[in-house]
Amino acid sequence: MKAPLNDKGVISRYREFLPVGAGTPVVSLNEGSTPLIHSPRLSAKAGAEVFLKFEGLNPTGSFKDRGMTVAISKAVERGAKTVICASTGNTSAAAAAYAARAGIQCVVILPAGKIAIGKLAQAYVYGAKVVAIRGNFDDALRIVREFGGVDGVAIVNSINPDRIEGQKTAAFEVIEDLGDAPDIHILPVGNAGNITAYWKGYREFHANGRSTRLPKMAGFQAAGSAPIFFGKPVEKPDTVATAIRIGNPASWKGATDAAAESGGCIDIVSDEEILAAQAWLASNEGVFVEPASAASVAGLLKCHSAARCASCPFSTAVRPGAKVVLTVTGHGLKDTETAVRHGNFQPLEADATLEAVRAAIA
Ligand SMILES: *Cc1c(COP(=O)(O)O)cnc(C)c1O
Repeated sequence: MKAPLNDKGVISRYREFLPVGAGTPVVSLNEGSTPLIHSPRLSAKAGAEVFLKFEGLNPTGSFKDRGMTVAISKAVERGAKTVICASTGNTSAAAAAYAARAGIQCVVILPAGKIAIGKLAQAYVYGAKVVAIRGNFDDALRIVREFGGVDGVAIVNSINPDRIEGQKTAAFEVIEDLGDAPDIHILPVGNAGNITAYWKGYREFHANGRSTRLPKMAGFQAAGSAPIFFGKPVEKPDTVATAIRIGNPASWKGATDAAAESGGCIDIVSDEEILAAQAWLASNEGVFVEPASAASVAGLLKCHSAARCASCPFSTAVRPGAKVVLTVTGHGLKDTETAVRHGNFQPLEADATLEAVRAAIA
């Protein structure tokens, strides 16, 4: 008999590495197995072999689905009737979808007015109860933490370790696709759960003999929202990249450990660099990602310019033939407003004839 269609997700593929047992109900939407796309033009720019781990191709359009399949499955196993999360958008989209799949209630707490409309639409369409608070993401997460003691309610933010467990499977897939770990892994950093998860995944597969080495981990924050880089919480984080607009990351130590233990770094990119990288990636590689995801690309490009700092891991690790993997965390279609606003897009106008259209595009 063929395996059932919902048996292709990260829990069934990596069960022995995840905190699930025979009695755990698997709540899955076949997340994971995202493509690792070779990027010839970025490779030429960087002087190394660059690959994009396109996490926007997950069921709700971001890597959050990997953690959510584990978090919701475990919540249901423990008898939760409601899951709750604070979100900059993608966590709520994933939580709402997987809660719908499980047949339980989902409550999302959002900073009012700070969420890309596509992500907000997802939370509503999947049937979540949405509460917009007058405050920022960090306020939302504080309230969620206070729900921790309430019976029948499970927190599904990345402070829930089940989320990190599920997210580490992306590192497993990279190793399987490349045949070994890359030299450098670059990703955007917001709440810092994902860099923590990748580093855990790389170490586990290495300890298991499935890779011969560990990558240097390079995490990029938006300059206006860079508590880890500057070494102190940011009261009013501000960046166009809403998914990484976080002033006091929950997994702060996970990020600094990943950078320190791997010989990598935590660095910053400006909003201008993020938007330029987003547009460049779409028009040169055909991959449309949301602004936060473009921080990876902006980071790689920055570290190949004169802005490179003295102790930079790129100076030794990036050489011809070296493999660099960039996680592009979320799909561009989640936030078309930002792309359209900053792209200043205006259609060319023409009369309805071949000649007029040819003249317009000449
Ligand atoms: C959540 C998210 C991030 C940030 O990940 P953290 O684990 O919070 O550091 C980056 N990009 C996208 C698209 C996200 O949804």
